[in-house]
Amino acid sequence: MPKQVLFGQKEFHELSAFLIQNGFQKITPHQKHISLWRQRLVPPRKTHGSETGFVYSHPDHNWKVVVWTSFVEPTGKPKPQDNIWVLIKENDLALYFRPPIRRTEFALERLQTYALIAKTRVLVRPCCDECRKYLDIKKGKGLRSRYLVCNNINKHPDKKIRTYNWDKDMPEEALVILRDEREARAKYWKAQRAKGKIPGKAILIRKKWKPAEEVK
Ligand SMILES: [Zn+2]
Repeated sequence: MPKQVLFGQKEFHELSAFLIQNGFQKITPHQKHISLWRQRLVPPRKTHGSETGFVYSHPDHNWKVVVWTSFVEPTGKPKPQDNIWVLIKENDLALYFRPPIRRTEFALERLQTYALIAKTRVLVRPCCDECRKYLDIKKGKGLRSRYLVCNNINKHPDKKIRTYNWDKDMPEEALVILRDEREARAKYWKAQRAKGKIPGKAILIRKKWKPAEEVK
């Protein structure tokens, strides 16, 4: 496991500037409080409520990217034990968690890359080839596998649902990065499995914390 490198106030400010420049907005503690209250969610730990997050919302549909930085602004430090999360939500529902970013040497660069890839996914949200309705995210068989679906069967000549690849309409620049990452991750977990470790443990823990955010 690579060494943990925690970032400080200066790096956090740079990250914050980068995300804001790219159309993300900071999630204020008040917004977070209201959101949890509205959804009747109880943060599992006292400290969980204080990390700073950012959100990118699409102007025309209900998908958004949420980034949880693990950085606690009032203390000026990252939380000692946590990863960085990038997820895609439809309204309140988290439909896709990308693999957590461990806080190692290039974590912030990786976060910037994956925040932009997630934003691209939201920006290029594909429409059904048949009926032009926005596609929805559906959970596949694997832990993080996702595909896109159109349930608008009345507008399909054969009255059947249409399914599409998760990467539909994603630009080649993003696909190159994703392919490299998937390959590296597959190699990493092959080695981990040989040692008896289970992939995706972090996401299972994360899901347990916020049951209402789980993919239905
Ligand atoms: Zn359709």
